[in-house]
Amino acid sequence: MTRLSEYLLPTEKQPPADAEAISHKLMVRAGLIRQMGAGMWTWLPAGWRVHQRAVAIIREEIDAIGGQEMLMPVLQPSEPWRKSGRLDIEELFKLNDRKGSELVLAMTHEEAVTFHAAQVVQSYRDLPLILYHFQIKERDEPRPRAGVLRTREFLMKDSYSFDRDQAGLEERYELHVGAYDRIMERTGLRFYRVESDVGMMGGLGAHEYMAPCPAGEDQIALAEGYAANVEVALRRPDVHSTADGYTLGSQPLSIEPAIEVGNIFKLGTRYSEPLGANYLDENGRELPVWMGSYGIGPARIAAAAVEQFADEHGISWPRALAPFAVHLVAIGKPGTPELAAAELVYETLRDGGVDVLYDDRELGPGEKFADAELLGCPLRLTVGRRAVESGEVEVQVRRGRVAGPGLPLGGEPAELVRMVDELWRSLP
Ligand code: ATP
Ligand code: MG
Repeated sequence: MTRLSEYLLPTEKQPPADAEAISHKLMVRAGLIRQMGAGMWTWLPAGWRVHQRAVAIIREEIDAIGGQEMLMPVLQPSEPWRKSGRLDIEELFKLNDRKGSELVLAMTHEEAVTFHAAQVVQSYRDLPLILYHFQIKERDEPRPRAGVLRTREFLMKDSYSFDRDQAGLEERYELHVGAYDRIMERTGLRFYRVESDVGMMGGLGAHEYMAPCPAGEDQIALAEGYAANVEVALRRPDVHSTADGYTLGSQPLSIEPAIEVGNIFKLGTRYSEPLGANYLDENGRELPVWMGSYGIGPARIAAAAVEQFADEHGISWPRALAPFAVHLVAIGKPGTPELAAAELVYETLRDGGVDVLYDDRELGPGEKFADAELLGCPLRLTVGRRAVESGEVEVQVRRGRVAGPGLPLGGEPAELVRMVDELWRSLP
């Protein structure tokens, strides 16, 4: 039941004074998020719906490749971090308990998952495995910024694969490439999968999923049929710098800002060796487990979608991420036939399983429309006197702000639900 008169959606006419990024401004103005401190954010009900949509898509796709969901703690003993050599990373929050034991707040979970693998994986028969969770990460980021794009606390889906050898790791890695491609496609974001610059880190291979957007802090190099991390692109012998910019062969190569929304990484035995995650093969030989690590941030997916599709009126969600499918605006005073008609449309859609936000507040149409365009649900339906007279519910498609086909008022409820559903499915 979502009547705006009873729902917490604190919209604002002005963005926060310190906001520069589009997503920061619009997500606060639309009543999706609120700040508590530097890099510390609360997701309000409508914002959390968006976040949860991203989570649901990710969960479905990782389950589909055989991932097993679990939950590891954020508060951890420091010992595994000492063993992995990451205890001194500046981003890692450290604390002491009342007994003086040294603890950390996990910034990622390689140490934890490898700690467990060392205990529970005994032989080649226990492999392969894909384990994952959605868990809070704490990071003492040097520069928290841009609303929820870079926070000090955020939810990540991180999965970890365990194999007996490199060939197995390659297989689990390819499964994640497929899952991540599908996740990104389903979100409706514009994205590129680019090879990361692992040369310096000495890794075995990695890819980043990049969403081009103005507030992005990374840069990607793009040409027809080519997308790469800038450092990787600029090392190619066929990339040249000209007066008009870069070229790749005979094509122009453009450099665009982008935000990393996902990251997949072939770890090899980087963690299994120091943490003792070994298995016995058929001949009783003890060998280190081959691991991969795969992260993705629902908050960045949400913010990148805002960045990519917003216009001067507000957010324009891809339908897969929208907090509601339909924003129904009632225009009419209590006791009028138009308000009764709007109530009926609301109940019909709600009972038909459509995610509908019903603006039943006693406000003028101008304010209601402004809030609807700010929040950015894919479809806006309006029921006022004009609808009652013409027998048609007015439809606006948010992306492009174009008028959609009118929907019959007062017909078969099932037919209205079907038509709304069909229209929604046709949207990006
Ligand atoms: P960046 O280079 O942007 O700092 P990262 O390499 O530190 O990212 P990972 O450690 O690979 O990121 O984390 C995996 C995913 O978690 C990222 O792709 C992103 O979606 C998300 N993420 C990382 N840091 C943050 C943050 N500070 N705030 C919100 N989401 C984050
Ligand atoms: Mg980082």
